[in-house]
Amino acid sequence: MFINGERVDAGDAATADVLNSATQEFLDTIPVATAEDVQRAVDAAQIGKRVWAATPVHERSRILTKCADAIDARREELAVSLSTEMGKIIREARGEIRVCAQIFRGFAEAANHHYGKTMTDYQIGTENDMIFTQREPLGVVACISPFNYPVELCSQKAAAALAAGNAVIIKPATDNPLTIMKIVELCLDCGVPGNVLQLVTGGGAVVGDMLVNSDGINAISLTGSTAVGKGIAKAGAETLKRIFLELGGNDPFIVFEDADMELAVADAVQGRVQNAGQTCCAPKRFLVQNSVKEEFIRRVIERLENLKLGSPLDEATDLGSLISPKAAREVKRQVEYTVEQGAKLLYGGSLYDESYFEPTVLDQVTPEMDVAYDMEIFGPVLPIIGFDTEEEAVRIANHTIFGLQAGVMSRDMKRVMRVASQLECGGVVINGSGNYRHTDQPFGGWKMSGIGREGISVTLDEMTQEKSYILKNILRA
Ligand code: NAP
Repeated sequence: MFINGERVDAGDAATADVLNSATQEFLDTIPVATAEDVQRAVDAAQIGKRVWAATPVHERSRILTKCADAIDARREELAVSLSTEMGKIIREARGEIRVCAQIFRGFAEAANHHYGKTMTDYQIGTENDMIFTQREPLGVVACISPFNYPVELCSQKAAAALAAGNAVIIKPATDNPLTIMKIVELCLDCGVPGNVLQLVTGGGAVVGDMLVNSDGINAISLTGSTAVGKGIAKAGAETLKRIFLELGGNDPFIVFEDADMELAVADAVQGRVQNAGQTCCAPKRFLVQNSVKEEFIRRVIERLENLKLGSPLDEATDLGSLISPKAAREVKRQVEYTVEQGAKLLYGGSLYDESYFEPTVLDQVTPEMDVAYDMEIFGPVLPIIGFDTEEEAVRIANHTIFGLQAGVMSRDMKRVMRVASQLECGGVVINGSGNYRHTDQPFGGWKMSGIGREGISVTLDEMTQEKSYILKNILRA
């Protein structure tokens, strides 16, 4: 772990193993932090937050830009580390590291131009006053990140919080924390002070929970499951922390009969199999107009047949492993459960090696089934739901507890926009699947998909608080 600038073990020397997701070979151990370890990090951050808030923004920005350059310079090594510890195919791992550097650079630039406001003398009696606001850091921000895009999603939080002048404590996912640890080490080498950026490891239910309940933490930014998010929201209420939650999804991909079918099929498959199906905003329900459903399914299966499953480090591999054998078994259970509820298994459905799951197509899925409502499958599974009318498509799409993103496919732009405007979610991709995230976009969910928005255009607001400075009677002679 990185506590107060030092690389340390747990106080009681407890460790957990990190394995290669694809092969289950041992890679390394990580410390399992004790309550005292977490408290030491929080105490150091209390000093760090003052040091960093007093550091001019141009200097913070310079250091974070240096971090971005260092990440870029080590892209290949970091990508191999990421691919190995999580099973993500190497081409996608390189992309994730590139995006991470862009996020650091983007927040470093944006922070230099993150302005306050001035008020007018609209209110009678305030003609001689001047009022302006400044955005000031929150203090200490705990960034709790998930396993699926461990580097990109952690940097969306940590780079933003640092650029805004906060001290940061990262709690990465226990299954694959190694690459983000290397990045933290690079950032410390580039000049981020050791009490400003720290990282503690250990199980979320214990170590994460300590951060959530700590008086010394001002904000929790979590990307993870809805169940964990709900627990954090409840626990965080006790100390009235700011809570930002980027949670699960069950995004619809709506294909009308007049869609460009080649594009619809390509995006359906790419959107669902990217990262082996472990993407929050992947299309997870495929709503296809009944008149073209047979054709859509046939062409999807043809495409899936051509995917190459294999070693994540092989340049030719299209579909790597899931994060763990346990995760693969859970996907199998969810597929079997959906079949028990009446869905028809048309393709795939089996484990392949220990932690791989075959691309899978389920037909005859109905809106009443769990998979269409509140069961998020984190694997390469395409449940197909037929519909006849536009109204029916909208109704089915919104019939879920989640609301992250969506995709709508049709050549009729009026229809696409009409449908998009009725969807209850944080973002709609027009003529593409909802598996899309621009670094700057206000990304986030409605309903049980979260609270708050993340992206270079918005997170600096979330990571700061507004203070009003009132110069009373300053203009009076
Ligand atoms: P997770 O199980 O909720 O874990 C996320 C993080 O929370 C991990 O670091 C975990 O630590 C920690 N954690 C677990 N229990 C905790 C507790 N009681 N208190 C504090 N922290 C705790 O999620 P995941 O399986 O890693 O990620 C998959 C989920 O994230 C999916 O639902 C996916 O849709 C969602 N997601 C959402 C977005 C988005 O932007 N909306 C993006 C990506 C993923 P451990 O690893 O030690 O358990």
